[in-house]
Amino acid sequence: MADISELRARNRHFASSGAHLRVPSPAFLTRQGLFVVSCVDPRTDPAAFFELDLGDALVARTVGGRVTPGVLADLAFLSYLVESRSPAGPWFEVVVVHHTECASVILAQPEVAALIAGRAGVDAGELAGRAVSQPERTVEEDVGLLLASGALSEHIPVSGWVYDVGRGEVRSVLRRESGSGTITAAERDRAPG
Ligand SMILES: [Zn+2]
Repeated sequence: MADISELRARNRHFASSGAHLRVPSPAFLTRQGLFVVSCVDPRTDPAAFFELDLGDALVARTVGGRVTPGVLADLAFLSYLVESRSPAGPWFEVVVVHHTECASVILAQPEVAALIAGRAGVDAGELAGRAVSQPERTVEEDVGLLLASGALSEHIPVSGWVYDVGRGEVRSVLRRESGSGTITAAERDRAPG
């Protein structure tokens, strides 16, 4: 269970630091121009592995770092915000990060997917498809899903990365340049594996 008094003490320390006053405005514009999608796994916090500070990035965390319908809806919302309120930009890049040793692999077991889907009221087959056993493959799948969805403004570049939890290192797998519409292999061919 969470230690509520400890959380209150941490928050008092944070508020007294003034960090909340040093953020970009309006709130949907980030200092680093990033929207990061990462797994809920506590080892895969992008604030840690990209050394991000408050206001540096928009962050969505899902099981496996998968691009879910909820993530697509959020990106459609943000695309609308920038297009309608700050059409000249600056824009942000969507960075999708999948990782090694992801617990989502158990979703590939039909009985597990069926049980969880029943609880959540979602489709078991769709849920099973979210298992991340080969992060290089699934991150490419999700970048393709983003590009095909129509949720994103054409000004938004998309890249796929893999985070190695044992090494603490991220590796770029593929990237679509802003407006180019083409997917280019990034470090896939020269990566050490
Ligand atoms: Zn994970």
